[in-house]
Amino acid sequence: MTKIIKVQKGTKDILPQEVEQWHKLEKNALDIFTRYRYKEIRTPIFEATELFARGVGDTTDIVNKEMYTFEKSDRSITLRPENTAGVVRSFIENGMARLSAPVKLWYKGPMFRYERPQAGRQRQFHQVGVEMFGIKEPAADAEVILLAVDYLKSLGLNDLEVEINSLGCPECREEYKKKIKEVLKPEFDNLCEDCRNRYEKNPLRLLDCKVDSCKEIFAKPEIQEVIQSDFICEECAEHYRAVKSYLDKLKIKYVENKLLVRGLDYYNRTVFEIKSNNLGSQNAVCGGGRYDSLVKNLGGEDTPAVGWAMGMERLNSLLPEIEPEKSDGYIVSNSPADALELAEELRGQGLKIEFDLANKKFTKQLEKASKIAKFALILGEDEINTGKVSIKNLSTSKQVTVDRKEVTSEIKG
Ligand code: ATP
Ligand code: MG
Repeated sequence: MTKIIKVQKGTKDILPQEVEQWHKLEKNALDIFTRYRYKEIRTPIFEATELFARGVGDTTDIVNKEMYTFEKSDRSITLRPENTAGVVRSFIENGMARLSAPVKLWYKGPMFRYERPQAGRQRQFHQVGVEMFGIKEPAADAEVILLAVDYLKSLGLNDLEVEINSLGCPECREEYKKKIKEVLKPEFDNLCEDCRNRYEKNPLRLLDCKVDSCKEIFAKPEIQEVIQSDFICEECAEHYRAVKSYLDKLKIKYVENKLLVRGLDYYNRTVFEIKSNNLGSQNAVCGGGRYDSLVKNLGGEDTPAVGWAMGMERLNSLLPEIEPEKSDGYIVSNSPADALELAEELRGQGLKIEFDLANKKFTKQLEKASKIAKFALILGEDEINTGKVSIKNLSTSKQVTVDRKEVTSEIKG
């Protein structure tokens, strides 16, 4: 027998019975983001590897372990693991810094990370995200968080938790990094291998470690004292206070979490995540923050920016299942030519119409209609000869006979 080829590990088909939920995610994104005056941008799925090495940061797990990279005509290409770097590349390349600020962009699409597949973690997954360029003021951070919360609310997701932190600026963070390294020095040999590697290059990332033995070390009082200390400079603190006061005013509940450092290198000041308790261990649906240095680091003009990305599979698993939609009408007839003609007419008026292409017995057709449609549209010999249609309401069993041109108004009520 011919061998069956299966879907790749960590990837999934989105099947017809699931696709309505995806449509909902996408439709609400377009609706809500448009209200906030964001415009959609669609960038390529692969980019130069260097873009991610520089844009995401070469001390991150994404760049070190998770990228799908290949050579083609002597070029190193990578399937995008996230889309901020791609959007920033496009922003620079298309001279969007010249547009009047803020420039507000959103995207959706597949991302690729070579991770260990598990619940809530795939190798091809989808993100929807927003990026706002050109505003350094804290109102931008607050509006971007408000947008995330509004979008989640539109999907019926209210019981989510916003976590927030400030990473300060590169200057004030330097001091904090030094202190963290100092207090962790005696524990160096007890840290996991990843943490030992990050210790020099990116000590803040240690706080994000998910390994139990590391978490125990970070829980020690003398280490907690450093982690919990207020290290950010007055300017950064002022920005952070303003963001929080706007969120208070908007009645957006949040918790401050000093361990929230986010996986990517490019964040400064505000970082945030939105979590659900209904997701098990991969419980973050949204991650984002401010990245004021990225545009410049990638060769553009100095442009502040803030944004977030949400995992669409994780969002999907929180949505209630959507019942398959019924057809408006199922034409019951033994004259395919007349059924085709009526179907064409009614579809043209916007109705969702099916009929029996295999021309089965009347009773079989009625049976099928009662399962999949709201109305049976009976087109027997009498009806055909008199230019009428008998309409049976399949939830009340009431039947009326009307002129063909009145079918749509009868159904729509
Ligand atoms: P995590 O800590 O879960 O690995 P991350 O920091 O790598 O998250 P981001 O890069 O911030 O995640 O991506 C934003 C969102 O995209 C996450 O909150 C999550 O919902 C989703 N996401 C990230 N990686 C995956 C994946 N491999 N499979 C499914 N969804 C993912
Ligand atoms: Mg990750």
